[in-house]
Amino acid sequence: MTSVSTLKELFLDEVKDLLNAERQLVKALPKMIHAATSVPLKDALTAHLAETEKHVDRMEEVLTSMGMEGILEEGSEMLDTVEMPALDAAIVSSGQRVEHYEICGYGVIHEWAKTLGYDAAAKLIATTLAEEKAANEKLSSLAKGGINTAAAAREAATSIG
Ligand code: ZN
Ligand code: FE
Repeated sequence: MTSVSTLKELFLDEVKDLLNAERQLVKALPKMIHAATSVPLKDALTAHLAETEKHVDRMEEVLTSMGMEGILEEGSEMLDTVEMPALDAAIVSSGQRVEHYEICGYGVIHEWAKTLGYDAAAKLIATTLAEEKAANEKLSSLAKGGINTAAAAREAATSIG
């Protein structure tokens, strides 16, 4: 990253970062859905995949609303770890880590968009932010609703001694 001195530059930098994350997540979620064994977890991830596709569109719209379409490069390594999980608990953990990252990022750029007077962008960002919070809460409730204890029970059943 070159030097950044204005809030507008910071905002654009963060928007690009989040758009990259969303694009990576569109690729990673089908693998997580495939790996998950819990049906409610598969359903939750499938629903969030559809939302995540909208998040990509919305962020592209944010850039378009600022006359900045087509300036993006791919290449975040952030989600490499999301591809591996075998256990539902690990998938939930990876998912929640991503949601927290997104909630933080969208929360920050929502404030910046308002400060900069980017009303259309702020509205798009707020919609996505609400969906990220709901997705995180859904994953959290699944973890507490049995996925963690199921993972622990499986471990106890396979451990020797
Ligand atoms: Zn998202
Ligand atoms: Fe998300």
